[in-house]
Amino acid sequence: MNRAVLSLSLMSLLSTPALADGGFYGDPPDATHPWAIHDMNRPQPPRVEPGTFSSQDRPGTPPSDAIVLFGGMAEEIEKWQADKQPAEPTKWEVKDGVLQCVPGSGYIRTKEEFADCQLHIEWSAPSKVEGNGQGRGNSGVFLMGQVEVQVLDNYNNPTYADGFASSIYGINPPAANALHAPGEWQTYDIIFRRPIFKEGQEIDPGYITVFVNGVLTQDHTPLEGGGGHKTRSQSRAFPEKGPLKLQDHGNPVRYRNIWYRPLPKRFVDGGEYSRMTPEATAAKRAQIAEKIRSEANQKEGQAKMLSLFESLCYASNDEAKNSALGMLDGFTNEVKNLPAEKLATQKGEILQVTKALRYLTKFQFLPQELEAKKVLEGMIEANAWEKK
Ligand code: MG
Repeated sequence: MNRAVLSLSLMSLLSTPALADGGFYGDPPDATHPWAIHDMNRPQPPRVEPGTFSSQDRPGTPPSDAIVLFGGMAEEIEKWQADKQPAEPTKWEVKDGVLQCVPGSGYIRTKEEFADCQLHIEWSAPSKVEGNGQGRGNSGVFLMGQVEVQVLDNYNNPTYADGFASSIYGINPPAANALHAPGEWQTYDIIFRRPIFKEGQEIDPGYITVFVNGVLTQDHTPLEGGGGHKTRSQSRAFPEKGPLKLQDHGNPVRYRNIWYRPLPKRFVDGGEYSRMTPEATAAKRAQIAEKIRSEANQKEGQAKMLSLFESLCYASNDEAKNSALGMLDGFTNEVKNLPAEKLATQKGEILQVTKALRYLTKFQFLPQELEAKKVLEGMIEANAWEKK
């Protein structure tokens, strides 16, 4: 190779700016984790503009990605219907920005159907206290129309614990009674995961977490089939989705500020959230490796070489490996032949490539005895580029 060709290829090899956060950092992917620790290839969380909290006087605003089921407008009654077959309009009323149960008119359900969600809902029991136990300010929030998070005025009103406000009715009492007085607004924030069955086998029992006025009352409580009145429910499959239902239990309970956010799908539900099986992890790693290789082919020089090497951390690929090793030999030979003053200008690149090689050999993506690594480390030592 003559000098002109050498310096041209060297320029293309070395001119790419250093990669920001360029991998080779945290522990690599393993059998059940498709991403490395602190992996910059892992997708960024989607941006959500947060809403505002409610006060007693006024409801807050939902976050930007929430689906609003009732935000205070009269026409939003159209999002609901009487829980009857065939469906018919509900007789519940919207007054002063509030959705109110009309006793005797029956449950209502949303036209919208959904499953795993973060649900926000606020309710208020009548300020005129009537009845006791289950008869005072009773309603209910039914996730997927099946699991009741109890709504009940339990302010100085005892009842059976598994029928308390924010109990999973018939399943689990709340961990605390954090209710305001009747007539005041109570806030439920609920995280719901439906049960998942495959071929009749329970894969995930489904869980529910509830905060009442900001106080945790249900902590990842298993659904055990969803509960019910008097009868012990059995673990069972749920449909893919269902409506949200609100109960008419004969009390004019009021609701406001009802919204939900769909949750990312769990691995057991076909998504990528939560721990994955080795098979799913291997498939995901292959997909990530493929993406990095295809991006590498849009790059040049050192950036391309490092990307090809990086792809090996997700899935082995002889073509990518041989191509990157070939580029590494080229890189090493060229810096080896640089005069001292030119070599100093490549300090950053040499350190970066060496860092990658140390990572790749440490985690056995490349053989421990790698000639190029020894050569580059020799240069670093000779020039004292690393602080002791
Ligand atoms: Mg109820």
